[in-house]
Amino acid sequence: MSYDHVEVPEGGPIEVIDPDADELDVPDEPIVPIIHGDGIGQDVAPAAQRVLGAAAEATGRKIHWMRLYAGESARERYDTNLPADTLEAIREFVVAIKGPLTTPVGAGYRSLNVALRKRLDLYTNIRPTYHVEGVPSPVTDPDAMDMVTFRENTEDVYVGIEFDPGSEEVERVREFVEEEMDYPDSIHDGPVGIGIKPITEFGTKRLVRKAIDYALEHDRDSVTMVHKGNIMKYTEGAFADWGYEVAAEEYGENVIAEDTLWEERGGDSPAGSVVVNDRIADNMLQQILTRTSEYDVLAMPNLNGDYVSDAAGAQIGGLGIAPGANVGDGLFVAEPVHGSAPKYAGQDKVNPTAMILSGRIMLEHLGWGDAADLVYDAVEEAIASKRVTYDIHRQIEGGEKLATSEFADIVMKNIESMA
Ligand code: NAP
Repeated sequence: MSYDHVEVPEGGPIEVIDPDADELDVPDEPIVPIIHGDGIGQDVAPAAQRVLGAAAEATGRKIHWMRLYAGESARERYDTNLPADTLEAIREFVVAIKGPLTTPVGAGYRSLNVALRKRLDLYTNIRPTYHVEGVPSPVTDPDAMDMVTFRENTEDVYVGIEFDPGSEEVERVREFVEEEMDYPDSIHDGPVGIGIKPITEFGTKRLVRKAIDYALEHDRDSVTMVHKGNIMKYTEGAFADWGYEVAAEEYGENVIAEDTLWEERGGDSPAGSVVVNDRIADNMLQQILTRTSEYDVLAMPNLNGDYVSDAAGAQIGGLGIAPGANVGDGLFVAEPVHGSAPKYAGQDKVNPTAMILSGRIMLEHLGWGDAADLVYDAVEEAIASKRVTYDIHRQIEGGEKLATSEFADIVMKNIESMA
């Protein structure tokens, strides 16, 4: 494959052996695409790149970074925000990491990130949510939080079918719903906005399957489907029903639908199995605060996943810390949860931890558990030493306020001394 404005570095391609099992063939010197992104992406991405490179080298490997462009930097080179080169290179090299992207006004997308996830069919957004020792948190026991959220990335509100109040289209939809579908007088008179919320069997099952596979592989106790099926029976309710179907039809005895014995066992599932249960979304937002340690892996349609994963992230210290990844069948793109925070762009100020820990998920995905552990331990040690960026510094007593690049230097030094 040849590319218009980017070069393929030395190194070997990562190959997908079994997309269903996320099984990869990873050379010791793989080519890994990286998109620095917009705004603070220019600060956090190079910092993460250095740290991840150091962890790879400390464990006897080398990452050959292939710089790709999306967002503002792509516009300068390609005159488009999402160039074909970028999409093609991720398809070819299969594992990538990206910084945040600003959604340009009037570019024809609701969000550039949504467009990227959809074009590559990265249908699962995964966020491991755990507390790093020393990070200030608004709750009394942040260590109780150790959840992994699986948020569906391609349907529900992400489909983006909405009709503008006052438009001819919305009036046609109103007429269709009230007259042809027989819901007379169900919508108040006057301007109305109408959105369509599709949740399919296909989209639900592949998401829940990913969550159960993850739980079994990582020895987690439970997978909780979070839905609002008490009100939206045929969308959110169907999500839970199809989720239980996948569990029953595809996993046999490895998965147990919730039973009272589970609580008696103290929330532990028998070795090699997971409990699958479900919770109504509003209850779940309470449960993650009040019964935090009882939850493990959460599988959610798009909108619930948005709310619940951010609320869970806040409990462990917020945006500067929270890592994530978008995963499809065979393709994997790690990215921090935060956005491009334009007001801090280029100031070498913000916290690179979220991007570094997103890289840690990427290293785990490559099967480089030793390098991933090294990254985590080195970050934890840096934060424990209270030499931190402004966001953490302003919440703790004492300590030293560091720039983005200085924090990355400390993490790299820790990696060297721990390796
Ligand atoms: P944001 O960029 O996440 O920033 C909101 C606030 O979060 C910042 O002002 C800062 O808070 C804190 N923050 C974010 N990243 C941080 C970091 N690395 N270290 C320390 N603090 C951090 O959200 P936004 O301002 O709503 O969005 C800006 C742009 O990003 C928008 O164009 C949006 O569409 C885009 N976005 C992109 C992604 C993505 O690429 N995946 C995700 C979300 C948003 P304080 O000022 O209080 O310190």
